[in-house]
Amino acid sequence: MYNIYKVREDFPILGREVYGKPLIYLDNGATTQKPRTVVDAMVDEYYSVNANVHRGVHFLSQQATELHEASRETVRRFINARTTNEIIFTRGTTESINLLAFSFGEEFMEEGDEVIISTMEHHSNIVPWQLLAARKGIAIKVIPMNDQGELLLDEYRKLFSKRTKLVSVTHVSNVLGTINPIKQLISIAHEQGVPVMVDGAQGVPHCTVDVQDLDADFYAFSGHKVYGPTGVGVLYGKEEWLDRMPPYQGGGEMIQTVTFEKTTFNELPFKFEAGTPDYIATTALARALDYVTDLGMEHIAAHELSLTQYAMERLKEIPGMRLIGEAAHKSSVVSFLVGDIHHFDMGTLLDRLGIAVRTGHHCAQPLMQRLGIEGTVRASFGLYNTKEEVDKLVAGVERVSQMF
Ligand code: PLP
Repeated sequence: MYNIYKVREDFPILGREVYGKPLIYLDNGATTQKPRTVVDAMVDEYYSVNANVHRGVHFLSQQATELHEASRETVRRFINARTTNEIIFTRGTTESINLLAFSFGEEFMEEGDEVIISTMEHHSNIVPWQLLAARKGIAIKVIPMNDQGELLLDEYRKLFSKRTKLVSVTHVSNVLGTINPIKQLISIAHEQGVPVMVDGAQGVPHCTVDVQDLDADFYAFSGHKVYGPTGVGVLYGKEEWLDRMPPYQGGGEMIQTVTFEKTTFNELPFKFEAGTPDYIATTALARALDYVTDLGMEHIAAHELSLTQYAMERLKEIPGMRLIGEAAHKSSVVSFLVGDIHHFDMGTLLDRLGIAVRTGHHCAQPLMQRLGIEGTVRASFGLYNTKEEVDKLVAGVERVSQMF
């Protein structure tokens, strides 16, 4: 059974105070706190194994390589990829999407071709496509949404043309909390013969992800948003696509042979992993994935859903409250504004009460433009947040509201 108070003991930072008040950490959409086991994995590897991977004949290098490759297997299992060839380690979601935009764009897209994204994308799933547009003259089409924050599937269907080469869409919105019907979006694209990239930065921490069941062609996520370390992330890609895509960066590890005239490239997944990988972080990421697996993703999802629903109900009672994002299928994120109070003022005053929320545009300026606002206050929940913390958030928002 999911014992939230026991779970909290795994996260030392949750015991600290800010401004003399117990920390209430509600900024999990930005990054999550780390359980002791994840930090221990990093310390243990630095102290007792550390050596560069793949290149060494010596004992430590082989041990570090085994840990690194075992982590790849853990990631494979976690998202149910077919083989570890389909798991590319990157620095995070942002790098995963840039890798894809560059490499897929290089091989499969020409001037006049189109990529479909959505209104609720994070900048990291917009700007790489704009860079590609500037380089190759591709066009970007955008799936609209309704006022609840749900994508309009009929409009989505109409966006496809003979020039559509890829759909790249977020699994879960970091602003609205909307859980997009990814499986359906993928199947609609596949009916048109178009592959789909899923930005899973906010999906993996909150939902069970099975890339084969989704039939996703590509799926990206960041370690630090799923209780793992910073500096590591994943790009999953179906082998048949990755095999045909050119490398993203050149350097060590990604080559087979090099002469001054010509280089042949390494096999998957190494073709896409130039340079020394953050092998300490990959070990710790695997530890984080094991940690959430042991807790049970279904328990985590149920817990976060109940917190989200409770928070929305309670916040709605506050006069002047405007909730932003009320999709039927949403979780983990509650964005709001109260009356004329600037989101920044609300965030700053909540902070004084020990409550960490995020304010601003959340790296989704086009979404803000669609909503006609500059920013929101965002509370985002993680596996360790409690109902009492939601009560304190609500009391804090009420108190700040009364000050204005
Ligand atoms: N996509 C979404 C939906 C996000 O919420 C974020 C981070 O907030 C990113 C992409 C970028 O993740 P990272 O900064 O870890 O690369």
